[in-house]
Amino acid sequence: MKVIMLGAPGAGKGTQAKKIAAKYQVPHISTGDIFRANIKNGTELGKKAKTYMDQGLLVPDDLVVDLVVDRVNQEDCTKGYVLDGFPRTIPQAEALDKALNDLGQKVDYAINVEVPDENIIERMGGRRACVGCGATYHLVYAPTKKEGVCDTCGRELILRDDDKPETVTKRLNVYHEQTQPLIDYYTQAGILREVDGTVDIEDVFRAITLILGE
Ligand code: ADP
Ligand code: ADP
Ligand code: ZN
Repeated sequence: MKVIMLGAPGAGKGTQAKKIAAKYQVPHISTGDIFRANIKNGTELGKKAKTYMDQGLLVPDDLVVDLVVDRVNQEDCTKGYVLDGFPRTIPQAEALDKALNDLGQKVDYAINVEVPDENIIERMGGRRACVGCGATYHLVYAPTKKEGVCDTCGRELILRDDDKPETVTKRLNVYHEQTQPLIDYYTQAGILREVDGTVDIEDVFRAITLILGE
Protein backbone atom coordinates (compact mmCIF):
# COMPACT_ATOMS: atom_id res chain seq x y z
CA MET A 1 0.00 0.00 0.00
CA LYS A 2 1.49 3.29 -1.11
CA VAL A 3 0.02 6.34 0.55
CA ILE A 4 0.78 10.05 0.42
CA MET A 5 -0.29 12.32 3.28
CA LEU A 6 -1.35 15.81 2.21
CA GLY A 7 -2.32 18.73 4.40
CA ALA A 8 -1.15 22.00 5.89
CA PRO A 9 1.73 22.07 8.33
CA GLY A 10 0.25 20.89 11.63
CA ALA A 11 -2.79 19.21 10.07
CA GLY A 12 -1.81 15.92 11.69
CA LYS A 13 -0.03 14.19 8.79
CA GLY A 14 2.78 12.88 10.96
CA THR A 15 0.44 11.72 13.72
CA GLN A 16 -1.73 9.77 11.26
CA ALA A 17 1.23 8.52 9.19
CA LYS A 18 2.71 6.85 12.29
CA LYS A 19 -0.60 5.13 13.01
CA ILE A 20 -0.94 3.96 9.39
CA ALA A 21 2.64 2.63 9.45
CA ALA A 22 1.94 0.66 12.63
CA LYS A 23 -1.41 -0.78 11.51
CA TYR A 24 -0.48 -1.68 7.93
CA GLN A 25 3.16 -2.56 8.66
CA VAL A 26 4.75 -0.20 6.15
CA PRO A 27 7.60 2.28 6.67
CA HIS A 28 6.78 5.88 7.58
CA ILE A 29 8.88 8.19 5.43
CA SER A 30 8.91 11.79 6.68
CA THR A 31 11.12 14.20 4.76
CA GLY A 32 10.93 16.68 7.66
CA ASP A 33 12.26 13.96 10.02
CA ILE A 34 15.00 13.06 7.52
CA PHE A 35 16.09 16.70 7.28
CA ARG A 36 16.00 17.16 11.07
CA ALA A 37 18.11 14.00 11.54
CA ASN A 38 20.62 15.40 9.03
CA ILE A 39 20.71 18.73 10.87
CA LYS A 40 21.29 16.95 14.17
CA ASN A 41 24.14 14.93 12.65
CA GLY A 42 25.68 18.02 11.03
CA THR A 43 25.67 16.60 7.48
CA GLU A 44 26.11 18.76 4.36
CA LEU A 45 22.48 18.09 3.43
CA GLY A 46 21.41 19.16 6.91
CA LYS A 47 23.36 22.41 6.68
CA LYS A 48 21.79 23.25 3.32
CA ALA A 49 18.26 22.31 4.39
CA LYS A 50 18.45 24.24 7.67
CA THR A 51 18.80 27.64 6.00
CA TYR A 52 15.45 27.12 4.25
CA MET A 53 13.65 25.40 7.12
CA ASP A 54 14.52 28.15 9.60
CA GLN A 55 12.87 30.68 7.31
CA GLY A 56 9.74 28.60 6.85
CA LEU A 57 10.61 28.03 3.20
CA LEU A 58 10.64 24.76 1.30
CA VAL A 59 13.96 23.07 0.72
CA PRO A 60 14.69 23.13 -3.06
CA ASP A 61 13.20 20.22 -5.03
CA ASP A 62 16.59 18.88 -6.15
CA LEU A 63 17.66 18.35 -2.53
CA VAL A 64 14.61 16.29 -1.68
CA VAL A 65 13.60 14.31 -4.79
CA ASP A 66 16.66 12.01 -5.05
CA LEU A 67 16.53 11.38 -1.35
CA VAL A 68 12.95 10.11 -1.51
CA VAL A 69 13.44 8.16 -4.73
CA ASP A 70 16.41 6.35 -3.13
CA ARG A 71 14.37 5.68 -0.02
CA VAL A 72 11.38 4.13 -1.80
CA ASN A 73 13.79 1.90 -3.72
CA GLN A 74 14.97 0.25 -0.53
CA GLU A 75 14.10 -3.31 0.35
CA ASP A 76 11.63 -2.48 3.14
CA CYS A 77 9.48 -0.45 0.74
CA THR A 78 8.49 -3.28 -1.60
CA LYS A 79 5.12 -3.77 0.15
CA GLY A 80 4.47 -0.05 0.36
CA TYR A 81 5.06 3.01 2.50
CA VAL A 82 3.43 6.14 3.82
CA LEU A 83 4.98 9.37 2.58
CA ASP A 84 4.61 12.25 5.02
CA GLY A 85 5.63 15.73 3.87
CA PHE A 86 6.48 14.67 0.35
CA PRO A 87 5.59 15.65 -2.34
CA ARG A 88 5.14 19.30 -1.46
CA THR A 89 5.33 20.84 -4.94
CA ILE A 90 4.05 19.87 -8.39
CA PRO A 91 7.60 19.18 -9.68
CA GLN A 92 8.16 16.83 -6.71
CA ALA A 93 4.91 15.00 -7.52
CA GLU A 94 5.89 14.69 -11.18
CA ALA A 95 9.34 13.41 -10.27
CA LEU A 96 7.79 10.82 -7.94
CA ASP A 97 5.33 9.66 -10.61
CA LYS A 98 8.14 9.28 -13.10
CA ALA A 99 10.37 7.34 -10.71
CA LEU A 100 7.52 5.01 -9.69
CA ASN A 101 6.46 4.57 -13.29
CA ASP A 102 10.00 3.40 -14.13
CA LEU A 103 9.66 0.83 -11.34
CA GLY A 104 6.21 -0.24 -12.51
CA GLN A 105 4.63 1.09 -9.31
CA LYS A 106 2.04 3.71 -8.48
CA VAL A 107 0.63 5.54 -5.49
CA ASP A 108 -2.69 4.10 -4.28
CA TYR A 109 -4.06 7.04 -2.31
CA ALA A 110 -3.26 10.67 -1.53
CA ILE A 111 -5.06 11.43 1.74
CA ASN A 112 -5.75 15.09 2.38
CA VAL A 113 -6.10 15.88 6.08
CA GLU A 114 -8.26 18.98 6.09
CA VAL A 115 -7.79 21.57 8.84
CA PRO A 116 -8.60 25.29 8.46
CA ASP A 117 -5.79 27.82 9.02
CA GLU A 118 -7.37 29.12 12.27
CA ASN A 119 -6.95 25.71 13.93
CA ILE A 120 -3.40 25.34 12.62
CA ILE A 121 -2.01 28.22 14.64
CA GLU A 122 -3.32 26.62 17.86
CA ARG A 123 -2.04 23.18 16.88
CA MET A 124 1.46 24.44 16.20
CA GLY A 125 1.70 26.53 19.35
CA GLY A 126 1.03 23.40 21.41
CA ARG A 127 3.15 20.97 19.40
CA ARG A 128 6.18 19.66 21.28
CA ALA A 129 8.94 17.53 19.81
CA CYS A 130 11.37 15.23 21.59
CA VAL A 131 15.05 16.27 21.25
CA GLY A 132 16.06 12.60 21.41
CA CYS A 133 13.77 10.52 19.19
CA GLY A 134 11.74 13.23 17.40
CA ALA A 135 8.38 11.95 18.72
CA THR A 136 5.62 14.57 18.50
CA TYR A 137 3.15 15.51 21.22
CA HIS A 138 0.64 18.26 21.90
CA LEU A 139 0.28 20.07 25.24
CA VAL A 140 -3.50 19.64 25.18
CA TYR A 141 -4.43 17.07 22.51
CA ALA A 142 -1.62 14.53 22.80
CA PRO A 143 0.05 15.09 26.17
CA THR A 144 2.93 13.03 27.55
CA LYS A 145 2.40 10.98 30.71
CA LYS A 146 4.90 13.16 32.56
CA GLU A 147 4.97 16.84 31.64
CA GLY A 148 7.89 17.91 29.44
CA VAL A 149 9.38 14.41 29.14
CA CYS A 150 9.16 12.03 26.14
CA ASP A 151 7.07 8.89 26.81
CA THR A 152 9.29 6.84 24.51
CA CYS A 153 12.85 7.83 25.40
CA GLY A 154 12.63 10.07 28.48
CA ARG A 155 14.37 13.05 26.87
CA GLU A 156 13.22 16.65 27.02
CA LEU A 157 10.55 18.20 24.77
CA ILE A 158 10.92 21.46 22.84
CA LEU A 159 8.88 23.83 20.68
CA ARG A 160 10.43 23.55 17.22
CA ASP A 161 11.97 26.85 16.06
CA ASP A 162 9.85 26.75 12.93
CA ASP A 163 6.68 26.25 15.04
CA LYS A 164 6.94 29.76 16.47
CA PRO A 165 3.97 31.91 15.34
CA GLU A 166 5.90 34.15 12.85
CA THR A 167 7.28 31.14 11.00
CA VAL A 168 3.99 29.24 11.11
CA THR A 169 2.23 32.07 9.24
CA LYS A 170 4.99 32.00 6.64
CA ARG A 171 4.74 28.22 6.28
CA LEU A 172 0.98 28.43 5.84
CA ASN A 173 1.47 30.89 2.98
CA VAL A 174 4.05 28.61 1.40
CA TYR A 175 1.62 25.71 1.81
CA HIS A 176 -1.21 27.54 0.04
CA GLU A 177 1.03 28.66 -2.82
CA GLN A 178 3.15 25.60 -3.46
CA THR A 179 1.56 22.53 -1.88
CA GLN A 180 -2.19 23.03 -2.12
CA PRO A 181 -2.10 22.67 -5.95
CA LEU A 182 -1.32 18.99 -5.31
CA ILE A 183 -4.95 18.52 -4.27
CA ASP A 184 -6.01 19.18 -7.87
CA TYR A 185 -3.12 17.13 -9.18
CA TYR A 186 -4.18 14.01 -7.24
CA THR A 187 -7.88 14.66 -7.83
CA GLN A 188 -7.16 14.51 -11.54
CA ALA A 189 -5.17 11.32 -11.01
CA GLY A 190 -8.29 9.89 -9.31
CA ILE A 191 -6.54 8.96 -6.06
CA LEU A 192 -7.37 11.91 -3.78
CA ARG A 193 -9.33 11.13 -0.61
CA GLU A 194 -10.30 13.73 2.00
CA VAL A 195 -10.64 13.36 5.76
CA ASP A 196 -11.75 15.92 8.34
CA GLY A 197 -8.64 16.64 10.41
CA THR A 198 -10.40 18.76 13.04
CA VAL A 199 -11.86 15.81 14.95
CA ASP A 200 -10.04 13.70 17.58
CA ILE A 201 -6.90 11.86 16.53
CA GLU A 202 -8.64 8.46 16.79
CA ASP A 203 -11.62 9.66 14.73
CA VAL A 204 -9.36 10.94 11.97
CA PHE A 205 -7.64 7.56 11.97
CA ARG A 206 -10.97 5.74 11.77
CA ALA A 207 -11.86 7.73 8.65
CA ILE A 208 -8.48 6.81 7.14
CA THR A 209 -8.92 3.10 7.83
CA LEU A 210 -12.29 3.26 6.06
CA ILE A 211 -10.38 4.43 2.98
CA LEU A 212 -7.45 2.03 3.27
CA GLY A 213 -9.46 -0.98 4.44
CA GLU A 214 -9.26 -3.00 7.65
P1 ADP B 1 5.20 19.78 9.18
O1 ADP B 1 5.19 18.44 9.90
O2 ADP B 1 4.93 20.89 10.10
O3 ADP B 1 4.32 19.79 7.99
P2 ADP B 1 7.75 18.94 8.19
O4 ADP B 1 8.40 18.32 9.36
O5 ADP B 1 7.10 18.03 7.20
O6 ADP B 1 6.70 20.00 8.70
O7 ADP B 1 8.77 19.86 7.41
C1 ADP B 1 9.56 20.82 8.08
C2 ADP B 1 10.31 21.63 7.04
O8 ADP B 1 11.17 20.77 6.29
C3 ADP B 1 9.44 22.32 6.00
O9 ADP B 1 8.95 23.57 6.43
C4 ADP B 1 10.43 22.45 4.83
O10 ADP B 1 11.34 23.52 5.05
C5 ADP B 1 11.23 21.16 4.92
N1 ADP B 1 10.64 20.08 4.08
C6 ADP B 1 10.13 18.91 4.51
N2 ADP B 1 9.71 18.18 3.46
C7 ADP B 1 9.94 18.90 2.34
C8 ADP B 1 9.72 18.70 0.95
N3 ADP B 1 9.12 17.59 0.48
N4 ADP B 1 10.10 19.70 0.10
C9 ADP B 1 10.69 20.80 0.54
N5 ADP B 1 10.91 21.06 1.83
C10 ADP B 1 10.56 20.13 2.74
P1 ADP C 1 1.91 17.58 10.63
O1 ADP C 1 2.78 16.35 10.51
O2 ADP C 1 0.82 17.62 9.61
O3 ADP C 1 2.70 18.83 10.68
P2 ADP C 1 1.44 16.68 13.39
O4 ADP C 1 1.03 15.26 13.23
O5 ADP C 1 2.82 16.93 13.89
O6 ADP C 1 1.15 17.49 12.02
O7 ADP C 1 0.38 17.40 14.35
C1 ADP C 1 0.53 18.77 14.70
C2 ADP C 1 0.19 18.96 16.20
O8 ADP C 1 -1.21 18.74 16.40
C3 ADP C 1 0.89 17.95 17.11
O9 ADP C 1 1.18 18.59 18.32
C4 ADP C 1 -0.14 16.83 17.28
O10 ADP C 1 0.03 16.16 18.52
C5 ADP C 1 -1.45 17.59 17.23
N1 ADP C 1 -2.54 16.85 16.57
C6 ADP C 1 -2.47 15.98 15.53
N2 ADP C 1 -3.69 15.52 15.17
C7 ADP C 1 -4.58 16.14 15.99
C8 ADP C 1 -6.02 16.11 16.12
N3 ADP C 1 -6.79 15.33 15.32
N4 ADP C 1 -6.58 16.87 17.08
C9 ADP C 1 -5.81 17.66 17.88
N5 ADP C 1 -4.46 17.75 17.81
C10 ADP C 1 -3.84 16.99 16.88
ZN1 ZN D 1 11.87 10.77 22.65
